[in-house]
Amino acid sequence: MPGPSLIDSPRPSFSLDAARALVRDQFGLDGALAPLDSERDQNFHVATPQGAFTFKIVNAAEPSSAVAFQTALLRHVEALAPTLPLPRVVAAVDGAAVATAVGPTGDRHALRIVTHLPGIPMARATARPVSTLRELGRLLGRLAAALQSFGHPGAFRQFDWHLGETPRSRARLAAIADPGRRALVSGRLDCFDADVAARLARVRHAVIHNDANDWNVLVDDANGAVTGLIDLGDAVFAPLVAEPAVAAAYAMLGAPDPQAAAAAVVAGFHAAYPLTADEAALLPGLIAARLCISVTISAARRATAADPYFFVSEGPAWTLLEWLERHDGALGDALLAVCGAGSLPPRRDSADLLAARRDRLGPNVKLSYATPLHLVTGDDVWLTASDGRRYLDCYNNVAHVGHGHPRVVAALSAQAARLNTNTRYLHENILEYAERLRRTLPPPLETFFFCNSGSEANELALRLARTATGRRDFVVLDWAYHGHTQSLIEISPYKYKRAGGQGRPTFVHELPLPEVYRTPDDWPAFEAGARFAAEARRVLADSLADGPAPAAFIAETIPSVGGQVFLPEGYLAEVYAAVRARGALCIADEVQVGFGRIGTHMWAFQAHGVVPDVVTMGKPAGAGHPLGIVVTTRAIAAAFANGMEYFNTFGGNPVSCAVGIAVLDVLDEQRLLENARVQGAYLLDRFRALADRHRRIGDVRGAGLFLGLELVRDRRSKAHDGDAAAAVVREALSRGVLMGTDGPRDNVIKLRPPMTFTRAHADCLVEVLEASLAAVG
Ligand code: PMP
Repeated sequence: MPGPSLIDSPRPSFSLDAARALVRDQFGLDGALAPLDSERDQNFHVATPQGAFTFKIVNAAEPSSAVAFQTALLRHVEALAPTLPLPRVVAAVDGAAVATAVGPTGDRHALRIVTHLPGIPMARATARPVSTLRELGRLLGRLAAALQSFGHPGAFRQFDWHLGETPRSRARLAAIADPGRRALVSGRLDCFDADVAARLARVRHAVIHNDANDWNVLVDDANGAVTGLIDLGDAVFAPLVAEPAVAAAYAMLGAPDPQAAAAAVVAGFHAAYPLTADEAALLPGLIAARLCISVTISAARRATAADPYFFVSEGPAWTLLEWLERHDGALGDALLAVCGAGSLPPRRDSADLLAARRDRLGPNVKLSYATPLHLVTGDDVWLTASDGRRYLDCYNNVAHVGHGHPRVVAALSAQAARLNTNTRYLHENILEYAERLRRTLPPPLETFFFCNSGSEANELALRLARTATGRRDFVVLDWAYHGHTQSLIEISPYKYKRAGGQGRPTFVHELPLPEVYRTPDDWPAFEAGARFAAEARRVLADSLADGPAPAAFIAETIPSVGGQVFLPEGYLAEVYAAVRARGALCIADEVQVGFGRIGTHMWAFQAHGVVPDVVTMGKPAGAGHPLGIVVTTRAIAAAFANGMEYFNTFGGNPVSCAVGIAVLDVLDEQRLLENARVQGAYLLDRFRALADRHRRIGDVRGAGLFLGLELVRDRRSKAHDGDAAAAVVREALSRGVLMGTDGPRDNVIKLRPPMTFTRAHADCLVEVLEASLAAVG
């Protein structure tokens, strides 16, 4: 039988003076009181010289066990998880956690004071980015971990906001005036009875907060950090999964992309406290249940109450319920996907995998590190190995917006559930993606081809250049790498000059790599660009003296496998001019350095004031999903259309394009270019300070989150020290940080962390780098 309904009991109505006197007499705090919103209690903000507090006069209908329960809960959290931003209980002058007083209506009320937390309600924040929602999810997951060992008699109660009690909403159905809406809720309640209730009874139960709505979540409006979780008035022993479900329901209200909002909350929760597959599968039903409870309570109250606080979420709740009618299948898939990765235990141990790999994979499919890592989950900048160890990923530039970004995962799974085809059918996604990319590029780069990797993009760029010019030769930078196909190996000195390579083909012409760090002593630094360009012109003149003119010059805008080499100012513009003077095209390989990695620009060539004829993109485009892009001018694309169709089975498919769009959204919404610029500048400063203390660091260079430290035997000879670089990487691995080496002699420590890298991550990286350098000696 349903218990007494608290929602009918009036709110306490103490005067401000009376409340102030209670605070002073019962808690020994003298300060200024200001009323705060509350649904059924009376709350005040108390400003005192000792700090700020929240004073609560509890609804008289609240059983005393409920008040004792909340106090015990807060004290438990304070003891077990002191860093969780929940209020702290302030004892009354007699030492009790709770005092009492008789109010104007003659009822006795419990009185409580807790510390006031900083921040503003998330409802009032200027933005509600997915990063904040993810942090909220994580906070709730950490709370779940702390409450695992908590119990209290007051937790066992029946009331309307308990998701297990959703069927009680049926009694309020009649209060919904609109028949269509009434039918909508009624249908949802039928689903709850038929599909959710029995499964809900079987999943893990625990004490939960149960009301992480955006008035109860506090944030710092300046940076979106979550600063507090308040109001334990709805805490209850309930299905654990109701916690993220309730938070997700509110995060979705009014969100431009409700699915991404829900995925962010759930991903954060799951990372901190993994949900089982059964629990994850209940999420859409519970989100809908919470909305049903909310709209029926609003409808029921509408008759009696005029307080707008009761109706704050009513309009958006209806909109969201209607949205769920159309999207809950996709939402369910997305939320399952978000939880899927973390809940899969490794199926085989590492030694077994290593043996199977040796048996089944080609021997030159290499592993990193002497003891290979067996990674099982990725979350933002963190990777977790099968032994539970976490690693800070400072190397993997593919996970551009962080590993498993919920928005990207949600976009991928939603589109995969709906439709995946190819470019022979009309579809919005490819056009939206092309248009979104075009807006980041200078004219006349406006015609797109889609493929599945950086290699495919470069391969296609070579075909475009050869078809458009009718020529065959290519000009490349020494030590360049452009991809793994036959024709790209043939234009990649990094491959054809090293182990297993066949040497430079006659149709390939190499320009010296303009390594500013290694310029001759008599070259002034400001002349480096012009001097290297003059050298390039000389080499071009010699190598092309009596052969055919080239089809194109292809170069990475910041040569990466060449050792994070930053081209000197003016160099690229001069080389482009020299190449174009021979009627050749200029191809910019932005596979590593594009998509805002350098912080100041979306595309690295923009920092050099040049406009290539063809740009190739890959790796970060899909943040882990295979995606490659070629953009060129209308004229070159027209010349390529020589009668032969360009068809690529997977290139430009609706799922890949949905992923690409989601990555661009995240870059914008989380302002990740700005972040790359700020964190990159900070890292460069810290690295330069490291170089003052560690003589092995010959050069420090970087732009945004694309950074390199060149290790040398001594600074005078600048002799490459690949052994030291490898040793530092090994030491860093043992300290939980992933980095890599590159350059022709593997002596450059290469750092390209996800664009979500924060100051705290940067400090962690520097600390580990310093310790690793010290260990190498
Ligand atoms: N271009 C550059 C500059 C690269 O670094 C790479 C990959 N390392 C590629 C092209 C080829 O990309 P993918 O391996 O995705 O085919």
